[in-house]
Amino acid sequence: MKAAVLTRYEAPLELIERADLSPGPGEVKVGVRACGVCGSDVFLQNGGFNSTLPIVPGHEAAGVIEALGEDLTQPLATGQPVALYYIDHCGACRMCEAGRVNMCFGVRRMGVEFNGAFATEVVVPEKNVIPVLASDDPAEVAVLTDAVATPYHGLVRIAKVQPGETVVVFGVGGIGSNAVQLAKLLGCHVVAVSRSDAKLALAEELGADVVVRGGEGAPERVKAVCRRGGPEVVVQTVGSAVVDSQAIEAAGIGARVVLIGTCMESFSLRASTLVWKEAGVFGSRGYTPGDISEVLDLRRSGKVETGHLVRHRRPLSEANDALDDLRAGRVLRSVITFGEGW
Ligand SMILES: [Zn+2]
Ligand SMILES: [Zn+2]
Repeated sequence: MKAAVLTRYEAPLELIERADLSPGPGEVKVGVRACGVCGSDVFLQNGGFNSTLPIVPGHEAAGVIEALGEDLTQPLATGQPVALYYIDHCGACRMCEAGRVNMCFGVRRMGVEFNGAFATEVVVPEKNVIPVLASDDPAEVAVLTDAVATPYHGLVRIAKVQPGETVVVFGVGGIGSNAVQLAKLLGCHVVAVSRSDAKLALAEELGADVVVRGGEGAPERVKAVCRRGGPEVVVQTVGSAVVDSQAIEAAGIGARVVLIGTCMESFSLRASTLVWKEAGVFGSRGYTPGDISEVLDLRRSGKVETGHLVRHRRPLSEANDALDDLRAGRVLRSVITFGEGW
C-alpha cells in the first residue's frame, strides 16, 4: 500500500510504501477511493491535535470494502461501497448511549489517533463503515461525510435552528459554505460573512440572503442587516480567535453561538456580553453517523450542492499540494482520488 505520512510537525507529508493492511477481529479493510483534504488536516500538521507521530492523516473518506475481519456483527461484504465515519466509539458510555457517539469518552479518530485515508487502504472498526450506493460519487460521499455533515451537526443538533430564524455564518470556506446552503435549506434567513469577494459570491450562489464584508467592524455590519434584536444563531467556522470574538459580538438577544472552527489562539470575553443578551456559546464537534446518512439523502434528492467541494481532485502523490492550496486559500477543499468511480 501507499500512504502519505506525517512524520514531523510543520513538515510536508512523506509518500511511503508500506506493508498491506489486514483487518483484525471486528474490523474491515477499505480500499480508499476518495479522501477530502480539510482544515483539520492543516491543524493536525501544525500539532493542534497533539497526535502521536507518525500518523496517516485523512478523515473524510469513501471506499470499497476489500477484506473482512473475523467476528463481524453486520452483514458486510467485500465490494460494498462505503462512507467512512472517522470516530471510533465504545458504544457503551453515557454519550454513546445518548446517540452522541462523536462525544464518546473513549473517542479515537481516524487520521488523528489512528491511521487515516491519505492512503490506498485503511482499516477501521466495522461500525465505522456506512454502506452507500454504487450510483453515488466517491468524491461527493467523502466530502459529505465531513464538509457537509459538520455544519449540519452544528445547525441541526447543536443550534437546533428553526425555520424563519436568522442564521449568520462567519467564514465561507469548506465548512461555512455548506453551513450557508444548509441553513437556507432549513428555512432560515441566511447572512454570510467573509473578507473575500469570491467567497461572498459563492455564498450568494449557495443561497445566502445577505452577504456582509468580514474583517474589522463586521459585527456592526451584521447587526445592521438583521432585524431588531439581532440574529438568533451565529455559526463561526473560521479558525481565528478574532473571529470567535466577532461572532459573539454579533449575536442577537437570546442567541445561540455555535463555534465550529478551531485555532491555537484564545480570546477574552466579558461575562456581561453573554449575560445581557442571555446568549449561549456552544462547541460543535464533528458529527454522528446519523448526520452522514441524512446529508447523503439530501445530496441524493438534489438539495445540497457539492460542485464547490469536489472540483479540485488530485492523486495521493499531490497530497502536499492539496494542503498548500488549502493553506493559501486557493481552494475550499481538495479531494484526493484514486481513479474514477468505486
Ligand atoms: Zn475535516
Ligand atoms: Zn462511548
